[in-house]
Amino acid sequence: MRLPERLDNFIGGRYVPPAAGLYLDTPEPATGARLAQVAASGPEDVDAAAAAALAAQQAWADLPVQERARVLSRIADGIEAEAETLAAWESADTGKPLSLAARMDIPRAVDNFRFFAQAITQFHGEAYDNGSAGFNYTLRRPSGPAGLISPWNLPLYLFTWKIAPALAAGCTAIAKPSELTPVTAWRLGAICDAAGLPPGVLNIVHGRGAQAGSAIVGHPAVGAISFTGSTATGRAIALQAAPFFKKLSLEMGGKNASIVFADADYEAALDGVLRAAFTNQGQICLCGSRILVENTIYERFTADLAARVQALKTGDPLDPDTRIGAIVSEAQWQKDRRYLDLAREEGGEVLCGGRVPPPVSERCRNGWFLEPALIAGLSPACQVNQEEIFGPVATVMPFRTEAEAIETANGTRYGLSATLWTTRLDRAHRVAAALEAGIVWVNSWLHRDLRTPFGGVKQSGLGREGGYEALRFFTEAKNIFIRL
Ligand code: NAD
Repeated sequence: MRLPERLDNFIGGRYVPPAAGLYLDTPEPATGARLAQVAASGPEDVDAAAAAALAAQQAWADLPVQERARVLSRIADGIEAEAETLAAWESADTGKPLSLAARMDIPRAVDNFRFFAQAITQFHGEAYDNGSAGFNYTLRRPSGPAGLISPWNLPLYLFTWKIAPALAAGCTAIAKPSELTPVTAWRLGAICDAAGLPPGVLNIVHGRGAQAGSAIVGHPAVGAISFTGSTATGRAIALQAAPFFKKLSLEMGGKNASIVFADADYEAALDGVLRAAFTNQGQICLCGSRILVENTIYERFTADLAARVQALKTGDPLDPDTRIGAIVSEAQWQKDRRYLDLAREEGGEVLCGGRVPPPVSERCRNGWFLEPALIAGLSPACQVNQEEIFGPVATVMPFRTEAEAIETANGTRYGLSATLWTTRLDRAHRVAAALEAGIVWVNSWLHRDLRTPFGGVKQSGLGREGGYEALRFFTEAKNIFIRL
């Protein structure tokens, strides 16, 4: 399948060009060349999408749950049938290794639809027996057209993580992928159509956040907004939505700690910490970018980790041996490099990486590549250890006591996830409970179970996605009392 030159919006079941006729370039990070152009939508396009969503809402909500579930399952099948093409496009659009897109991104998009197709058939209301007085029961009704806004790092994976539960719950949607990575989201429209999704149930509007995104947030038809992206954008959305009392689910930034105790399984911890820091070029909100190591093993662990970081191959995303692909955009590439300069200014020592490599291949001469970097010698309070970089840059710091490790791990404005490595059961429970994070992995990283609540505390998030939490978000509870 060939990618068209122009990627249009998907509104009311068909592809339509943006009302103003404007498009943005979407470059291929590995080469710097234009991959396609994508609709630069504005309020008129969002109006059209909202009208389509409103028109489709009642019939979609009224469809028996089993019917909705069947459509969702067929969408999963449709993504699976195109998995190879979608993985190739995801890799080209983001710069991530093709092997990663094929192994993680696209299968997870399939799972999102399969999971919520099943979950909705198990979702239920409540009933309370009030004895001879009567009884209470609670209905869960779709909350109406939802606004769904997603980021660039896991494009189809996170886009469908919102769309699947919204549609399963009986909501129609106006969904916007990141303007940096619109390709797989663009194709999802055709897949949904082929799967028999009624026109208007899912409307995909492309464009910049300040125009298309903000028009979705502000649209009167949209009562619930599910957003994943940076904390700064989450704050802007919260400010815009607050006067209208819109429902919000915000998944935002992180500065997650990986804590390694001296009693950890050494080899497993090395592998896990490495993966947590650098998978997807360090561009996963759950990446452990602050590595805290107990002082008794700090020197050895840091040296071994640096050797492994150095061995990660930075290369062409198409090369099966590549572990670190291209950085998603020139702006992000420059941001990562600015943080490396700042790390040096703040007294840090770059133990390995951090260089722009010589061209990784002829094809990739003009791509945005950066060797993964490990930095030591920084204080927990410095800017590099406080601000989210979202690139292949991690810091390593020693700690002396369990209490100090917890204090350092908790010492940022973020609270998304944390990973801890220990063989002591008492310590695992105690530290996991004390960490200010929505998700804690013990002796593991990124083990996902779609039934579990997913989200962060402090400035990392508001609300939870996953399982019934997501289905509750996209429904309104109505309680009814019947007097007997
Ligand atoms: P971003 O906030 O710049 O953009 C995210 C989305 O919001 C994009 O679609 C963008 O167009 C849109 N947007 C921007 N301004 C908007 C506005 N004013 N109104 C409405 N929409 C607007 O984030 P990004 O750079 O695409 O993604 C990286 C960030 O996402 C990182 O901070 C990362 O931690 C975070 N993230 C969080 C999670 C999580 O689950 N917590 C998952 C992935 C990424």
